[in-house]
Amino acid sequence: MSGDTKPVLCGECQIPLESGVKRDGEMWGVCSRCGQTDRMNEIMREAAKHFAHKSIGDMFKGLGRSGSGITVKRGPQPHFRWITGE
Ligand SMILES: [Zn+2]
Repeated sequence: MSGDTKPVLCGECQIPLESGVKRDGEMWGVCSRCGQTDRMNEIMREAAKHFAHKSIGDMFKGLGRSGSGITVKRGPQPHFRWITGE
């Protein structure tokens, strides 16, 4: 499969960020709706955190379905400024 790079979305607006703004010699991404902006490396780190969180959630959901007796406490969802899209 070729397009396995997941888009990074604004955590607030759920729309793809606009990247390619260069400031202070670094690449920045910006959300065209709410205007939040961050360095690309910070954005990628935040999106990776969100992706890991989502993956763990899916894993626990699968465990629950299989009747393993494991109960998972679902706390409040942490807020991510930048998220990984589908
Ligand atoms: Zn936004």
